[in-house]
Amino acid sequence: MSDPRATVVHVPIGSTTGWTKITQDSRVRHVRRSAARAGITAPWPDWLPPGIVASVAAADIAEPWAHQVAAAEAAWRGRHVALATGAASGKSLGYLLPVLAATAAPAGDPEDADDWRWRRRPCTALYLAPTKALAHDQLRASAELGLRGWPIAVLDGDSTPAERDWARDYAAYVLTNPDMLHYSVLPNHQRWAAFLRALRFVVVDESHRYRGVFGAQVAAVLRRLRRLAGHYGAEPVFVVASATVGDAAQASAALIGVDSSAMTVIEQDQSARGQVEIVLWQPDGHPDDDAAILLAEAVAADQQTIAFVGSRRSAEIVALNAQRELRSLGSDRLIGAYRAGYLAKDRRELERALQTGTLNGVAATNALELGVDIAGLDAVIISGFPGTRAAFRQQAGRAGRKGRDSRVVLVARKHPIDAYLLDHPSALFDEPVESAVLDPAQPYVLGPQLAAAAQELPLTEADSSYFGEAMHPLVEQLVRNQTLRRRPGGWYWTRPERAVDGVDLRSSGGDRIEIIEIGTGRVLGGIDPMSADSALHPGAVYVHRGDTYLCDELNGEEHEALVRAARPGYLTQPQLQAGIAISSVRAGRPIGVGRISFGEVAVTSRVTGYLRRDELSGTVWDQTPLDLPERTLRTAATWWSLDLAAIPEELSLAELAAGAHGAEHAALGLLPIFARCDRWDVRGHSTSSHPDTGALTVFVYDLQPGGAGFAERAYELADGWLATTRARVSSCDCEHGCPACIVSAECGAPGVGLDKGAAVALLSLLAPEQ
Ligand SMILES: [Zn+2]
Ligand SMILES: [Zn+2]
Repeated sequence: MSDPRATVVHVPIGSTTGWTKITQDSRVRHVRRSAARAGITAPWPDWLPPGIVASVAAADIAEPWAHQVAAAEAAWRGRHVALATGAASGKSLGYLLPVLAATAAPAGDPEDADDWRWRRRPCTALYLAPTKALAHDQLRASAELGLRGWPIAVLDGDSTPAERDWARDYAAYVLTNPDMLHYSVLPNHQRWAAFLRALRFVVVDESHRYRGVFGAQVAAVLRRLRRLAGHYGAEPVFVVASATVGDAAQASAALIGVDSSAMTVIEQDQSARGQVEIVLWQPDGHPDDDAAILLAEAVAADQQTIAFVGSRRSAEIVALNAQRELRSLGSDRLIGAYRAGYLAKDRRELERALQTGTLNGVAATNALELGVDIAGLDAVIISGFPGTRAAFRQQAGRAGRKGRDSRVVLVARKHPIDAYLLDHPSALFDEPVESAVLDPAQPYVLGPQLAAAAQELPLTEADSSYFGEAMHPLVEQLVRNQTLRRRPGGWYWTRPERAVDGVDLRSSGGDRIEIIEIGTGRVLGGIDPMSADSALHPGAVYVHRGDTYLCDELNGEEHEALVRAARPGYLTQPQLQAGIAISSVRAGRPIGVGRISFGEVAVTSRVTGYLRRDELSGTVWDQTPLDLPERTLRTAATWWSLDLAAIPEELSLAELAAGAHGAEHAALGLLPIFARCDRWDVRGHSTSSHPDTGALTVFVYDLQPGGAGFAERAYELADGWLATTRARVSSCDCEHGCPACIVSAECGAPGVGLDKGAAVALLSLLAPEQ
């Protein structure tokens, strides 16, 4: 979203030191300033009881911002709302006003547990966050605004049985996560009947996190929720809050399963804001080195600052280096490190320390986004583009205290995306944020979810209004494999076990392998077998929420991988031997002199060994062979192909293979800005001649069985994606290829060569320069 008052300034090369003069540094490639603005307020809605106005106003809110009132009014009128006003715009008040008005009992005595007026719960509301920590943050923030005694509760895996019972039977506002809804609330809906019958609002917070397979799972859970609420006669209004996303109406509608015309979109932030200056910085060396110095300079200039870095280890090193630099600048202020996995108590302490100023700066892993409630900083430093514009804006949004100016510095890595953004800053500033990619009809997700729905309440024809056209073929399949049985009343679940236990929202499904910590027996998570071979082979360094573990054993029969906490100082990179066969072509069209297609593929792969790479420099230490079984993945892919006849003859077959390989890396590297995937969501495969196409072919496929929507998005956006890839590689100032164009640290086939010139030649045939 472009701000008309913002201007791009090309800064002449100069040199100076210090935070105040940073924009004169020669490493600064661009500066973007958006002007300060006064906020626009609106009167309190007239349906809001005076008692609630008073209690909200007591929390230092004299009058709400206009966008908060617009969201509240729409939801109160019964419209679903997509609230996409970005970080620190005060979205919470927008959905809390209607929730407060609907769920507060008139004149109850909250101190009296037997007071029937509270127990009657005229309406209930549900809040869903992607993480437990966020739900607890919301509990504190909401309780501050609500009337004394407002029955509000967090429900999560840590709740005691008594707390669960209380939430179910008495709470009017329950804050939980999709997993609890899936495992606990929906399968026990009879016990939740009173709550569901009264359900008026459902808030889906941080909805941009529900993407890919996880997004499809949550979408199915929300459909099950709407169906059961409907069974009890309720038709809850959804408020879907997210960071600024492109096409908020469509993304929110896909998530909750309604038509996008049913959504009211609120995306104009009308809160007051100081000037924000965003600086794009091209370091000479490693971005973390510059991030440390910038962090120190900012803190020395009395700026409360956070630096986001890629890993927990980097956070510690950057904090140490910044502290040392700060001392040499003669300052006795304090800089700390923060990493994911801290206990709630530690997170609260860190928030307090930053707010009170006992801590002036912090270097943090990106995971901080999930756990800590810190906004209103003077400066944010981001070491390496965080992969998507949405993530960038989320991190940058931490800057900007009420009315005060703030600054964000993005320190570029050597990576195709970062290099692309340095050359095309308007792609960062002016283009809408990627919309969340998810496919609610994904059969591997929807099939088991339909089984879960059938166990909750027999499925009928009418339920396709919730689950869509994909329901019928999947139900027939579930009948064929005797998971469901057709009876006069609908389709019934036939088995003794709980259907939901077969569905983990956060894993990719199938025969999941559990990751278990040796000694403690703690389950860190689950992973599908194919990914396990790559990420959890014996000797693999496994990174989980910023912690590193060493894998001792991968036991496919027992479905477990045994790991132990370790800091070996290196990372591991699997080496794959892979083949790919096209099973069906769903779509295809010419692109340049070649062809782009989308369809189903079967990928066979075997992890043959791994490289050990230095954790910080990435240098390869050594190679270790492995003996692991071959796996087959059936998934969605997009591929481009070029007939040899269309390719200039002077390129040898070896150059073609190396060119295709380089083009594959660069295209994969840039895909996240088009398909909003993470690098571990997709993989590539290239060959100078593929038996199914009879041509040079480069595949990009979803790592999720059945596909996750990313390859399909890549197909749809192939023209822009490949043109961008061609431009990035051809304009890169390296000689024979570098990490900013065709060299990838994540390559599964490091034995195959890379050829920059051939990569440009091939890409130019697909996406010629205009
Ligand atoms: Zn390069
Ligand atoms: Zn590769």
